Amino acid sequence: MLYFVAETAMNRIAPEASRVSSEVLARYEAVIGLEVHAQLQTRTKAFCGCSTHFGDAPNSHTCPVCLGLPGALPVLNQKALRLAICASLALHSNIQKRSRFARKNYFYPDLPKGYQISMYELPLSMAGWLEIDVDGQKKRIGITRLHMEDDAGKSLHEGFADSDRWSYIDFNRCGVPLIEIVSEPDLRSPAEAYAYLNTLKQVLEYTEVSDCNMEEGSLRCDANVSVRLRGAVKFGTKVEVKNLNSFRYLAHALEYEIERQIGVLESGGTLTQETRLWNVATGSTEPMRSKEFAHDYRYFPDPDLLPVSVSEVVVREVRSSMPELPDAKVARFLRDYGITPYDAGVLTATRALADYFEAAVRAGAPAKTAANWVSVELLRRLKDAGKDIRECPVPAASLAELLAKVERGEITAATGKKVFATMFDTGKRAGDIIASEGLTQITDPSAIERMARDILRKNAENLAKYRAGNEGVFKFFVGQVMRETRGQANPQMVHEILKRVLGEK
Ligand SMILES: [Zn+2]
Repeated sequence: MLYFVAETAMNRIAPEASRVSSEVLARYEAVIGLEVHAQLQTRTKAFCGCSTHFGDAPNSHTCPVCLGLPGALPVLNQKALRLAICASLALHSNIQKRSRFARKNYFYPDLPKGYQISMYELPLSMAGWLEIDVDGQKKRIGITRLHMEDDAGKSLHEGFADSDRWSYIDFNRCGVPLIEIVSEPDLRSPAEAYAYLNTLKQVLEYTEVSDCNMEEGSLRCDANVSVRLRGAVKFGTKVEVKNLNSFRYLAHALEYEIERQIGVLESGGTLTQETRLWNVATGSTEPMRSKEFAHDYRYFPDPDLLPVSVSEVVVREVRSSMPELPDAKVARFLRDYGITPYDAGVLTATRALADYFEAAVRAGAPAKTAANWVSVELLRRLKDAGKDIRECPVPAASLAELLAKVERGEITAATGKKVFATMFDTGKRAGDIIASEGLTQITDPSAIERMARDILRKNAENLAKYRAGNEGVFKFFVGQVMRETRGQANPQMVHEILKRVLGEK
């Protein structure tokens, strides 16, 4: 088990050599299953009272239990169990009456116990599903099982003056509670795998089961990938690809691995069941070790931990405390606010964004207008500023106030966007900005007419073109009047007045 293997001839196929034509690729289909590890959002570790806080001094969160010292006794964190039950319910996975922790034995320097505590033959829940949406096509992906386990520590091979000679170990992660969610091999393309991981992440964030922070390692993904000729019933030889810890890596690594496998088969080779590692630097997967099998780990029930039995009462309690899930929220937004499915999808991407939108509507903003402003103006400014919606400098009520002013015609939509930009940058309120910058909409017809006549006089050449039948010049005149008024003239009045003035003989 876990031997690092030498490269075989098959594995040495260079990325360029494995390039296969698109016609050949089209004859095959990929079969993908994902194993996702998510860190449960608890304050303390799975079996001891040590803090799970990220980023503290190395080895500051350790005790005899998580260091696996002789005689130390683990006790299951109840909050972790409840979060795992919550995840199971959100994924329609059947909670088992009885589950049990086992010891998964292997040696690694960052695993001081010499085994990982993980549910094996009796997982917490089984046979769930998650619905994904790829380009409007909905598909249900089966979830084989969801089980609890603890994490290992972290080996630090880089970043120290003597890193060429020594590796360092930080045990802070050791014993942090995780759930592993294993999907059925129901995914057929990198795009489906991407959608699955994205939807799963959204569900875990909504339920606050995990913060899913990929940079901090709270969400990790491995993939089982095989290929077969389209129409074939039997699965091909499966390869596990590890280290797919960003959405970009997941898509790239799957694309690479699918093409590599097809290349091997097309050149008459055979694939070996193995574990490969996605190498970010080279953009390729590399052999890591021959695939280990369950019996390599010598699993046996952990004698220090009682079996877990989840009562109906606890399940009901957890269920009743669960928030509205993303798909239910989308359905409600469509029904209650009459917005487009696209906007509903954008606005429910996170609970915080959905809450912001609803707060704006509650404060009096018209729903469709608010949906548009939040999903376009607000998200663009947040992205440019590198900010999360929770750090948004414009409170939802202030946005509602601005939109009401646009709605009532106090300012034009174009001015509204300028005012919004200032609100975002300064935190000032719409009313104050409009007053101090004199941005109120110009609705005085005589003022607009004066300006219109002035513009026509200054643009005699264009006026002649218009008179000769070039209707396109009309837009130019509108643009000139709007520019003259810094976008503050009522656009409809500008249109009407220009038409009238131009119509005079
Ligand atoms: Zn501890």
